[in-house]
Amino acid sequence: MFLHRKTITPVAGLELDETQRVMLAALCCMPLIGFGENGLRGWDQLIVYPDAFRVKRDHMDAAGVLHEYEDDLIGESWEAGPLILSWADVCSDLQDPEPGFCVAAHEMAHKLDALDGVLDGAPPLPRDWRKAWASDFQRTYDRFCEQVERGVETVIDPYAAEAPEEFFAVVSEYHFSGADILRKEMLEVAAHLTRFYGDFRLA
Ligand SMILES: [Zn+2]
Repeated sequence: MFLHRKTITPVAGLELDETQRVMLAALCCMPLIGFGENGLRGWDQLIVYPDAFRVKRDHMDAAGVLHEYEDDLIGESWEAGPLILSWADVCSDLQDPEPGFCVAAHEMAHKLDALDGVLDGAPPLPRDWRKAWASDFQRTYDRFCEQVERGVETVIDPYAAEAPEEFFAVVSEYHFSGADILRKEMLEVAAHLTRFYGDFRLA
């Protein structure tokens, strides 16, 4: 269904054969095994770069000064737009899995998060579950941000403290690539993710 509904577009000289396309589709669908095909809604295109890609950003600071800078990314998920992945990083996640690294799971978590129209670190959930999810995630996120602010060296990637939606995406990476670590560090969050994603994992 993924191959039928999404256009996979390799760019910047990259070529992908049928096997590689199927592999990409399978990897992107891994976070949907529990949620179902509804998780494919809202976007059409998967763009694949050979390696990390450079994007131009701008940011208006508090004084109204516009700063322009460049950022190297291995994945990106546009709201209602394409999902973008670095092929080199997808391959290394599969060939040499490391706890906390699974760029496809990270970007698919953003897609799932966006399904209810707001990027807030919570995918659409039944009402009762949503309440428990929100309170467990908020408490864990607040505690984690506080550790990062104090300069504590955290086991979980400190990028998770960036925003609630990045927290959800980063812990999703751990669910698929380092579930034992996540369970040890954030038990309630790990339990929600196991219920949400199912028990399928890369490592
Ligand atoms: Zn992200």
